[in-house]
Amino acid sequence: MERALFAFLSVALCSSCLASLPNFIVIFADDLGYGDLGCYGHPSSLTPNLDRLAAQGLRFTDFYCTSPVCSPSRASLLTGRYQTRSGIYPGVLYPGSIGGLPLNETTIAEVLKPLGYATAAVGKWHLGVGPNGTYLPTRQGFDQYLGIPYSHDMGPCWNLTCFPPDIKCFGLCDVGTVKVPLMKNEVIEQQPVNFLDLERAYSDFATNFITVSVKNNQPFFLYYPSHHTHYPQYAGPGATGRSLRGPFGDALLEFDTTVGKILTTLEQTGAINRTLVFFTADNGPELMRQARGGNSGLLKCGKGTTYDGGMREPAIAFWPGTIKPGVTHELASTLDILPTMARLAGAPLPSVQLDGVDMTQLLLGLGKSRREAMMFYPTDPSEKYSLFALRLWKYKAHFYTRGTTHSGTVPDKDCQVFSVLKAHDPPLIFDLEADPSENYPLSLEKKPGLRTVLARILEAKAKFEASMVFGESQIGKGSDRELEPCCSPLCVPKPSCCQC
Ligand code: MG
Repeated sequence: MERALFAFLSVALCSSCLASLPNFIVIFADDLGYGDLGCYGHPSSLTPNLDRLAAQGLRFTDFYCTSPVCSPSRASLLTGRYQTRSGIYPGVLYPGSIGGLPLNETTIAEVLKPLGYATAAVGKWHLGVGPNGTYLPTRQGFDQYLGIPYSHDMGPCWNLTCFPPDIKCFGLCDVGTVKVPLMKNEVIEQQPVNFLDLERAYSDFATNFITVSVKNNQPFFLYYPSHHTHYPQYAGPGATGRSLRGPFGDALLEFDTTVGKILTTLEQTGAINRTLVFFTADNGPELMRQARGGNSGLLKCGKGTTYDGGMREPAIAFWPGTIKPGVTHELASTLDILPTMARLAGAPLPSVQLDGVDMTQLLLGLGKSRREAMMFYPTDPSEKYSLFALRLWKYKAHFYTRGTTHSGTVPDKDCQVFSVLKAHDPPLIFDLEADPSENYPLSLEKKPGLRTVLARILEAKAKFEASMVFGESQIGKGSDRELEPCCSPLCVPKPSCCQC
C-alpha cells in the first residue's frame, strides 16, 4: 500500500517543478452544525456548491474539530496540535487580547511556504492581533490577508448586518468595543466594515489570488475561514430573502455562493485538477440563537459542549481526478489536515509533538484512516479535569458532562446551562454507530466485552495525557483596550472615534 502511495505521489507530484505541486484550499465555516447543509440532510438549506463538492468529493460522516468554540479550533486546524499545547484556551480571543497563537507554532502556511507556495488567508482569523499586529496572519506564514481578525459580533453591529437597510437587525453585539474593522494585511482598510459588500470583497480577493498564482506558475495555499453562519447572520442583496430558511439560510447561501465562485475560478484557470479543496467547520451550531443558530441534525447539543453536536462537523475533501467521490465513515479531524497537506506537498513536518495523522491514504482510496481516537476538551481545559470525553473507534466515553449557554434553549436538558459539571465514574459510554445521538449509555453489566473496551479507552486516555504539556494560556494574559484595532489610533473618545 505504501508503495502504491509513493508511486502515485511520484507521478502526480514532480518535486523538481513547482507547477506540479498540488494547490490547497481550506474552507472553514463558522458555528455550522452537522445538520446544516443540504448534503447532510437539511431540508431547506440552499447549498448547491457545497452539495456539488460532496457529490464529486469524499464526504466524511465522522469528522471532528478539537474544540466547541472558535479560537482553539482554529489553532488546532492550522497547527495540527490540540489547543492545550499552543495555549489557545480558555474560551476565545478578543479584539484587545494581549496574547495570540504563539509565533513559534508552525502553521500549514509555514509548512508550505519554504516549498515555494503562495499563501493567503481571507476571512475570520481569530488567532490574535496583539501589540503592533504581532499575531496577524501575515506573521504566521501568510503572504496576504484580507478580513476581520476576530468574530464579527465583537463590535457594535446594530446598523451593519441587515439588508435592505430599513429592516431592523437582530442583536446588538459587543457595543463597548471598537467598530468591526476590515484589515488588509496589517492595515485597517475599513472601519466599520461594510458587511453587505464583504462577501464580494472576499470572492474578489480569492479569485485574484488564485488567478495570479496560476499565472505565475506558483503552487498556492488559500485559507478561507468564513464569518457567515456565525451570529449575527448577514447577507448582501444577492442572497437576502432567497433561501427558505430565513437569515441563517440566507447567510449560508451567500457563503455557498462564494464557494461556487472559488470553484469557477479553479475551472477557468485550469487549476481544478491540481487542487485539493477541503471544507469543514470550526465548531457546532450556536443553538441559543434558536432558529437563527445552526442545526446539529441528529447529534446531541451544539456549540460549547463536548457532546458530538459541539464538535462533529460536516467535512468534504474534493480533488477531481484524484479523490474518488464517495462517503467515508472513517474517523478524521481538523488535526489531520496539516500532516496530510505536508505529505502531499512533500514538505517536512514541524519538529514538535503533532496530534494530527496523515490521511493521504484515506483520501486517495488506498487505505483506512490512521486515527483511532479523538479527544474532547471543554472550552476551559485544565490539567485538573483534563479530557471531558474520548472517542475510541465507535465508542465515546464521557468522563465529565456539562451544559452551556451557547446550547441553551433546546429541549434536551443536558445541553442547558443548568446542567452543571457532572463527573462520571465509570464514564458514560455510547456506541456512536448504533446511537449517534448519545441518548442511551451502555451498561457495563449488560454488555459483554464493554469492560475490555473501557480498559482500552482508559489506556488511550492515560497515554495521551502523559504526552500533553499545557502551553501557557494566551487568553489568560488578558486584554488591553488600547490593543483593539483602531484606524485612528490617537483619537478620543475611544471606542466610538475609531471610524474612518
Ligand atoms: Mg465558531
